[in-house]
Amino acid sequence: MLTSYVVKCPHVGCDWFGSLLPHSDVKPWPGSTVTRPVVRFQCPQCQGEWSARLVGEDVRPLPLKEVAAPLA
Ligand SMILES: [Zn+2]
Repeated sequence: MLTSYVVKCPHVGCDWFGSLLPHSDVKPWPGSTVTRPVVRFQCPQCQGEWSARLVGEDVRPLPLKEVAAPLA
């Protein structure tokens, strides 16, 4: 059932690009009346995680919250 997607890491300073398997849990957003498949990816390079929404066979990265460590 799981499919890998070609994604690009959205984290600043990381240019990882490739095929990645999303985390298994696909849930609608809390409080949402519309099912929006959102998956989590973890970058194999910087280990950063991000969320993306599945749109058809495409994935659209959701905006990152500025919670990452500040640039050194
Ligand atoms: Zn990365």
